[in-house]
Parts: sequence; structure tokens; C-alpha cells
Amino acid sequence: MMNPLPIFDGHNDVLLQLHLSGSKDNGAFFAGGGQGHVDLPRARVGGFGGGFFAVFVPPDPPLLKSDVTITETGREMRMPPPLNGTYAQRVAMAMVARLFRLEAESEGQVKVVHIADELMGCLETGVLAAVLHFEGAEPIDPELDALEVFYKAGLRSLGIVWSRPNAFGYGVPLKFPHSPDTGPGLTEHGKELVHACNHLGIMLDLSHLNEQGFWDVVRLSNAPLVATHSNAHAICPSARNLTDRQLDAIKDSGGVVGLNFGVIDLREDGRWDVDTPLSTMVRQIDYLVKRVGLEHVGFGSDFDGTMIPQAIGDVAGLPKLMAVLREHGYDEATLGQLAYENWLRVLQRTWQ
Ligand code: ZN
Repeated sequence: MMNPLPIFDGHNDVLLQLHLSGSKDNGAFFAGGGQGHVDLPRARVGGFGGGFFAVFVPPDPPLLKSDVTITETGREMRMPPPLNGTYAQRVAMAMVARLFRLEAESEGQVKVVHIADELMGCLETGVLAAVLHFEGAEPIDPELDALEVFYKAGLRSLGIVWSRPNAFGYGVPLKFPHSPDTGPGLTEHGKELVHACNHLGIMLDLSHLNEQGFWDVVRLSNAPLVATHSNAHAICPSARNLTDRQLDAIKDSGGVVGLNFGVIDLREDGRWDVDTPLSTMVRQIDYLVKRVGLEHVGFGSDFDGTMIPQAIGDVAGLPKLMAVLREHGYDEATLGQLAYENWLRVLQRTWQ
């Protein structure tokens, strides 16, 4: 089935949801049934051509409601402690294995892609393309042996940190309103990790990294800069979002910023409110496009990882966003850039 406008997306937590189900059975992903934001039938309805499938190792001990303080004017989450490396590697192994089982069980409907030609082929033929991504480098030892092994197993994208510290750097806490400048830059191991990823051709993802770490990567990396799921700090001053200077650096490097659909990082008031209109997403896209140019903006939904606007609901609601962008004046050529062409260009350059 030829899809007229496939959407390739910067971030989803499908593997986390399947992992948290506690069962090895992936039947619900293929059958559908309304759980979470993404399954294969709804992906088809939404024109979802694939994206970065995150391996995210949940906090241990788990986060509690009491770890998040919400006030009239903002919110703050207690910073989770660093993960135990053995635990992180064990969970990552289970989630990577699950992605390969999904591919095997899909009878050709899902493919884990390693090179840009494979991704392009999937987008042309309607096979769901999955890029193996780590959200946080905790499963990787500081000597980087596991990096080489996971690369051979298909790892093509790595977020240095999630919102917690690890051996390589410091993530931003989930805080609003707050600057992304929340702590020190990359550790020595983190700097070595940047070089190693450049060398192997693993895309580095700067979402969740604090500002000093971000500038370290700007100085060290020779690849286009990417934030897979982050928005404009000028509109929503969450610590997770990017300042104008950071956005400019992404533009200058030829990179991409993926629009995060999470309401707390979209809204001007940063509130957890599912009743967030599509116009709030359009406003962020307009701002990003104006600041960095059409060639440097994509989507980074965070499906299955956060609260997204009710107006989209789930992956099947993507056409609603495209429709509102069309009405707002974005033409088909532009929508193609936002939907997948910019991501494809960055991956072509990074993976070569
Ligand atoms: Zn995230």
C-alpha cells in the first residue's frame, strides 16, 4: 500500500508499554484494541510510517505521585537517582529483544532499519520502520563495549541522558518554569561517547540533556544536532525545551527538532491538561519554523510516553494535526518536509 504522506516520528515509548505489560505477548500491538497511543492498526489509520522506538529503562525504585510537586504556577519532579548498570542493561536487553520479536512476528509489516535506504523503502511501501533508540545511555558501560555490541545489534540512535544523571552526563529535571541550564556538562566518559557515536554513525539525541551538556555536544560532535522530542522554550518555558540559541545551533548544524506532543512541554502554562487545543501545537510549529526554518523541524510525538492533547487522542489522530496545518497554510511540499523528509535527510547524513 503506497502511503501518500507517511509520518516518520522522532520518539515513541511503545516498547516501554509492552514491557510494562509484564508479558512477552505482543498480540495487542498487532490486533489493536485501544490500549495506549500506538498499535499497528491505528498506526495505519494515522499514516504513521514509523519512527524512533525508544528503549527507556524505568526509574528503580519507580516514580511516585509524591515525587512531583504541582503548584498554581508550576511543577517540579524529584530528580530520580542514577540507575544501577546491571539493572539497566538487563531491562534494555529485554526491550531490544522485544523489538526484534515484534519485527519477526509482524510477517513483514514492521522492519528495524539500519540504513537510510531501508527507511526510504519502508516509507515507500508502507512497512512500519523502527529505528532502535536508547533514551538514556545507562545500558552502556563507561568503557563503551556495550555500545559496540548494541550497534551491531541495530542501535542507530542514542539519547545521552534521560532526566536523571548517569555516567555520561546530566539530564534536565522535569521542571516548569525553569531554564534548561540545570547543572554541569558532559563527563569525560560522555565526551568519549560523543566521539564513539560519531565514529560508528549512531545519531545523538539531545532531548533531556541539560544546557551545558548540549553545548559540549555542539563543540564535540561532527554530526547534525538533533532533539527528537523538544519544543520552544520561548513559548513553553519548561526545562525540557530549547532556548532560541539552542534552536539556532540545531539549525546551523543541519539538524532537526521534533515537535513533542506532550502537553506539559507544549502549553504556555505548562499544565497537565489533556484539553489542549491543536492550535497550541500549531503555535509551537510556527515558532520553530520561523526560528530554524522548514528544513529543520519534524515531529517527535512521545506517543505512549506522556499526556498528549485529547484533540489528537492517539496515533490514529495524526491526520487531524495535518489537516489543521493545511488549513493554517502549510502546503503539501512543506508538510512532506515536516512529516518525514527532514528526518530522512538527517539520518542519511548521520548514518553514512
Ligand atoms: Zn522523553
